[in-house]
Amino acid sequence: MTRMPAIFFGHGSPMNALGGPYAEAWRALGLPKPRAVLMVSAHWETEGVAATAMEAPRTIHDFYGFPEPLYAMRYAAPGAPALAARVAELLAPDILMQDQSWGLDHGTWSVLMHAFPGADVPVVQLSLDMRRDARAHFALAQKLAPLRDEGVLIAGSGDVVHNLRLMTRTPDAAPLAWATRWHDAAKAAIVAGDVEALIAPRGEDAALSIPTAEHYLPLLYVLAQRTAHDRVSFFTDAIDLGSISMLGVRLDAA
Ligand code: ZN
Repeated sequence: MTRMPAIFFGHGSPMNALGGPYAEAWRALGLPKPRAVLMVSAHWETEGVAATAMEAPRTIHDFYGFPEPLYAMRYAAPGAPALAARVAELLAPDILMQDQSWGLDHGTWSVLMHAFPGADVPVVQLSLDMRRDARAHFALAQKLAPLRDEGVLIAGSGDVVHNLRLMTRTPDAAPLAWATRWHDAAKAAIVAGDVEALIAPRGEDAALSIPTAEHYLPLLYVLAQRTAHDRVSFFTDAIDLGSISMLGVRLDAA
């Protein structure tokens, strides 16, 4: 089996699920069909690590005050309890909780409904253990590496810049200067393979761009899969609402 890509989606607003340029870019990815997707979403934070282990994960509408059509959306991809068990094996001796109550949150379905519109690829979500720091997340992610050779697409969904407090609530808002600087710095570090600059971001621009870790950490899960043989590319690259980076990063085995 050939090695799967690994992919980070900048998901931005839930509204992107309804269509538009990002949805189009996600539809145009042309990813090989994986056996399953293992998704790390910004929107599932836990104490300890968990993976969804149910046969039929529900669609979670974890946002407030959005238009009705978004709440009507369902993404009926099956679960993959066997993959959740395999992840537990890889993470041992760390304990992986086999979760039966979460499902697919909008970090997952808003992008996968476009990347895999048939909802015929099983999906397991892996939670963010908020007791770990960025370095520990990266180390945990490295333990997942064998999955790429087992037909599993390792995916992350978040935003490289995500500051809702300083967001400009107009559709055509210009990117804020610090947001652009960190977005560009992160991109350059990804291209250069400067993992250290990404695990421990320094300076005021990064502090404003990453006020909380949850939207940033999924990127590290994807970058942790990178080998010397991977080609890096960006399939979306913009800043929305002043302070939300839509950068999408893809690793393809050469
Ligand atoms: Zn989000």
